[in-house]
Amino acid sequence: MAPELHFELSLYPDPVLRKPAQPVAAFDEELRAIVAAMFERMYASKGVGLAAPQVGLKTRILVVNPSGEAKDELLLVNPKILARSGPPTVFEEGCLSFPGIYAEVERPELCQVQACRLDGTPFEETFSGFVSRIVQHEYDHLEGVLLVDRMSPADRLRHKAALEDLVARHKRRAATPAR
Ligand code: ZN
Repeated sequence: MAPELHFELSLYPDPVLRKPAQPVAAFDEELRAIVAAMFERMYASKGVGLAAPQVGLKTRILVVNPSGEAKDELLLVNPKILARSGPPTVFEEGCLSFPGIYAEVERPELCQVQACRLDGTPFEETFSGFVSRIVQHEYDHLEGVLLVDRMSPADRLRHKAALEDLVARHKRRAATPAR
């Protein structure tokens, strides 16, 4: 059996959040362990979505759960957004990589996604509402696009101190020698 994994969150401006993620090649025991640990991290952090780069992995895996109930768990391996449609909607988004920062982001209402399940089976689904919102936010992470890029200049100014604080915390962590 693969050893159990535990992930810490990668916070802005960790460079891993800016690297384009690579497709998952093997649907194996390691992938299952990664996905389980990603769900665990997301629930422990009270998030509704998590992308692999947010736990330091440069791979195309998204976990989503809009309600926290087991029946609403959604896993997207190697997702591809085929189309976005519907009216533009505005919603206040947060991000586990930007603790305490929330900003309104405009996105199309619908997204049509192709992805693989845990066993590698491909599927296609069109998401709407809150799930579409989460999927589009998490998908951005796979492309190295972050909440700070999507927020308005006014919000960036409003959150200037909090963003600078994250940068300072990152520098302090980077300066601490690994044990
Ligand atoms: Zn995020």
